[in-house]
Amino acid sequence: MYDFIVVGAGFFGAVFAYEAKKAGKKVLVIEKRDHIGGNCYSYDHPKTNINIHKYGPHIFHTSSENIWTYINSFADFNDYRHRVLTTAGGKVYSLPINLATINKFYNLTLTPDEAKEFLKSKIPAIPFPKNLEEKAISLIGRELYETFIKGYTIKQWNCDPKELPAEVITRLPVRTTYNDVYYDDNYQGMPVGGYTPIFEKLLKDVPVELKTDFFEKKDYWKSVAKTLVYTGPIDCYFNYCYGNLRWRSCRFEIEEMQLDDYQGVSIMNYADREVPFTRIVESKHFYRERADLTRGTVIVREYPCDDPAEPYYPVNLKTDQEMLTGYQKLFSQEINVIFGGRLAEYKYYNMDQVIFRALEQAEKLLK
Ligand code: UDP
Repeated sequence: MYDFIVVGAGFFGAVFAYEAKKAGKKVLVIEKRDHIGGNCYSYDHPKTNINIHKYGPHIFHTSSENIWTYINSFADFNDYRHRVLTTAGGKVYSLPINLATINKFYNLTLTPDEAKEFLKSKIPAIPFPKNLEEKAISLIGRELYETFIKGYTIKQWNCDPKELPAEVITRLPVRTTYNDVYYDDNYQGMPVGGYTPIFEKLLKDVPVELKTDFFEKKDYWKSVAKTLVYTGPIDCYFNYCYGNLRWRSCRFEIEEMQLDDYQGVSIMNYADREVPFTRIVESKHFYRERADLTRGTVIVREYPCDDPAEPYYPVNLKTDQEMLTGYQKLFSQEINVIFGGRLAEYKYYNMDQVIFRALEQAEKLLK
């Protein structure tokens, strides 16, 4: 008999399992895939020796000193600062939208103060932005929105930006300086050696059963532990009784090249709707310190798609929010079950937020 059975070996499950084990509890982790790490899983590409994030790029960033200290106890981090470019209408611009983007787009040489006034003149009065489109226009005006946000967002989410929650766009800062670092957080970097070694350390002393689908023997797995920690999709847990929540997924097209450098930056976004992918990731730029150990390059084109078997992003339309309320009610009636992480909470969490939630739950339960 285990104290905890943890379903899913992503950040929530692995951190919770580590903390439970440290507290002297008996823990078992089961994982549907053939590897640990959830969507943070990374591997060294055999021919080039470049570390690839199999399920899309993960850049660690947080403003919490506690989380930064915690994650640094499992890996050394390099000093990578995320800088993104975007191609729109045949030109390359800096992201997130900053003074370089504004000046290039409008062919101007504004100072920060002038840019603030200029943006104000472009922004219509929207006192209470209700959705992604209104929020974006209230921050940058319609022209910048239509060029850099609208097409990308439609490709990414496959729905009208007027249906999407406003918060999605506030993930990106808007700046009237030339600061082009993508994130505002105090602590940022890439784990040297990729993410998988972090999970190997977290789960070093915990038994993990891979290729094990919880739903094939749900009652059995629930019977072997006092408490279930579930990190899979919440709608799946309740057998879709209120319907399927909308998730967005991604298809990754990987290409190895006999080139030193394909695009000169880790991520190039493609803002135009006609370009079928949203971005191209060239991972070698995440790990400058490893340059001498790699050969050639690898690029990955990302094609957002719907794939119920691989849920990555909660779309969170109004209908989803209603459904989620129903599922949360059911969850509150469950005894000895914890739900955590992006899939189980249906929240567009970043890695640091997931770790924070796992530590919070662990502290509550392991006291
Ligand atoms: N976004 C956009 N254009 C861009 C980059 C982002 O319109 O060039 C919007 C888009 O709706 C996206 C959201 O901002 O889903 C959040 O972007 P982020 O870079 O945080 O996405 P992630 O890295 O999580 O895929």
